[in-house]
Amino acid sequence: MTTRTRTDLDSIPAYVPGKNFPGAIKLASNETTSSPLPGVQDAIAAAVTSANRYPDNGATALIDALAASLNVPRENIATGCGSVSLCQELTHATCKDGDEVVYAWRSFEAYPVVTKVAGAVPVQVPLTADYGHDLDAMLAAITDRTRLVFVCNPNNPTGRSLGRAELERFLDAVPDHVVVALDEAYFEYNRTDADGITLLPGRPNVVVLRTFSKAYGLAGIRVGYAVADPSIITALGKVHIPFSVNTLAQVAAIASLEASDELLARTDGVIAERERVRDALIAAGYDVPQTAANFVYLPLEERSGAFGAASAEAGVLVRPYGDDGVRVTIGDAHENDAFLAFATKDEARTLAGAKLRA
Ligand code: PMP
Repeated sequence: MTTRTRTDLDSIPAYVPGKNFPGAIKLASNETTSSPLPGVQDAIAAAVTSANRYPDNGATALIDALAASLNVPRENIATGCGSVSLCQELTHATCKDGDEVVYAWRSFEAYPVVTKVAGAVPVQVPLTADYGHDLDAMLAAITDRTRLVFVCNPNNPTGRSLGRAELERFLDAVPDHVVVALDEAYFEYNRTDADGITLLPGRPNVVVLRTFSKAYGLAGIRVGYAVADPSIITALGKVHIPFSVNTLAQVAAIASLEASDELLARTDGVIAERERVRDALIAAGYDVPQTAANFVYLPLEERSGAFGAASAEAGVLVRPYGDDGVRVTIGDAHENDAFLAFATKDEARTLAGAKLRA
């Protein structure tokens, strides 16, 4: 007998994580290269002794710590098992069958998945010619069925960031009943004036998503948070899988917030490396859009797959996206050098050939 799972699942793309193999330099998942700080490791180790108990489902201490660090009331904060689970909770909290979710494309590849899993319809709005959000086209794509809009800022995988003024204009033009998620997974690397949390006052339909996976270096621990009006926070709580933010994640996030000066100082080094890598690629003839995140993007179109495979062959894992482009995470200097050694060779430049500037 065939078991009766949903037939529409056949049309849902499986989430594709970055690849890995032993000894490879992994520049495919936008992780940080350093292990958690010793104090964070100690907090995790200490919490292991209570792993027989369920976590605090309300993440009370973590939410208190976030409220203090962000200077927002605790009623405005929810936590999730990574911000990807908050993306999913948002689709479940806003959409019923046939409702629409608008987002730019190409963007974070979980958006189509969480949209379809919720039974909603993805409305993908092409990026501008320079790989940023086309906010006017996104506004025009909003219909009576639209329940949720994702704005990934900076955009994964292209790295482009919107500025505060354009974001404000956009948010003011979106109908009040449509929820807008500002996905700021890479916020800590963004040196533009875009800061979603400062845009929240007076905008109860806006939710900011952030994560401890990137600049805070806890990708393997799984914890992110949402900041929004209490009505959205309450709705997220209704669809939340109980206890999905585990105890180790909660204590690790608190300890990381306590060390935020040290952790955030590291982002300056990543940014310096990002600009070094981007300049070197541009000098080698590649088109590399400006980026406000911890990665660079090469819009190699139909050559992306072959370029990604050749880079893997050279021992450096990067992330090709169909016929759109290749995303390269900024790692340690020697890792970035290994990628540059590959990418600046004539062989790789020829592979990317048609897309290289004269
Ligand atoms: N949003 C964006 C734009 C991302 O790139 C990612 C991670 N790839 C996430 C959300 C999810 O991060 P996490 O679930 O690890 O918090």
